[in-house]
Amino acid sequence: MRLEGKVAIISGGARGLGAAEARLFANEGAKVGIGDLREEEGRALEAEIRESGGEAMFVRLDVTDEGQWADAVDAVMTAYGRLDILVNNAGILEHGSVEETTTESWDRTMSINGRGVFLGTRAVIPAMRESGGGSIVNISSVAGLIGGFMTAYNSSKGAVRLLTKSTAVQYAAENIRVNSVHPGPTNTDMLDVFFADDEAREARAADTPMPRLGEPKDIAYGVLFLASDEASYMTGSELVIDGGNTAR
Ligand code: NAD
Repeated sequence: MRLEGKVAIISGGARGLGAAEARLFANEGAKVGIGDLREEEGRALEAEIRESGGEAMFVRLDVTDEGQWADAVDAVMTAYGRLDILVNNAGILEHGSVEETTTESWDRTMSINGRGVFLGTRAVIPAMRESGGGSIVNISSVAGLIGGFMTAYNSSKGAVRLLTKSTAVQYAAENIRVNSVHPGPTNTDMLDVFFADDEAREARAADTPMPRLGEPKDIAYGVLFLASDEASYMTGSELVIDGGNTAR
């Protein structure tokens, strides 16, 4: 039980990587707040985790809304009495060169992927302080390390990388650790907007040094490590999980 006694909030936890993290965290002994807009999927995951002997609660959360963050933290603190871990996982992907990117797409992406991580981080710090410290894991992307044709997405994920390091420096003395995870293309619904069909997915997989796409569990295990006390001397770090994509 690598997270025994710990309480976590995972934003965007209803499906994809967030759901894999929620299952794994619960399996490792954490009580998990699943924060998402997707109520049906979130409640189904809550039920699934409880049926398999774990502890989880769905909280409706729009990460762009400061008030909803306050309510989510309150709900988890009331139910579980402490807060040790936040995974800022919610995100959206929109594709386009600088000229193809509309102002609306830029603002939407920055709001969810950037502002959402800032608001979540700011909302949990008092509760983590009260619990004697904590671990914040921000899901960036390899697209936050290198440039490409996802202008708003690349920019938002780059912002998450530096927000991570700034928060790490500011709160290290209070035992609140903050690290970023940088997945390469991973098999979730998010990639549907990116790959038109299975053939396109397979072509991308073949172009990876390890010739496959990531699976949600591949990423979730990295997040688990950073969330746990095993990573107790790590803060401000970047964990790349990409099958060797950015090693070239
Ligand atoms: P996904 O689309 O399957 O899941 C994203 C989740 O975030 C959904 O449940 C969605 O409802 C939720 N969400 C979206 N907007 C929200 C909001 N305003 N408030 C609350 N929740 C919201 O995507 P995924 O692949 O699981 O992505 C999870 C994270 O991993 C994202 O930050 C994404 O950018 C990052 N990532 C994914 C990949 C990949 O290839 N799948 C690669 C690198 C990074």
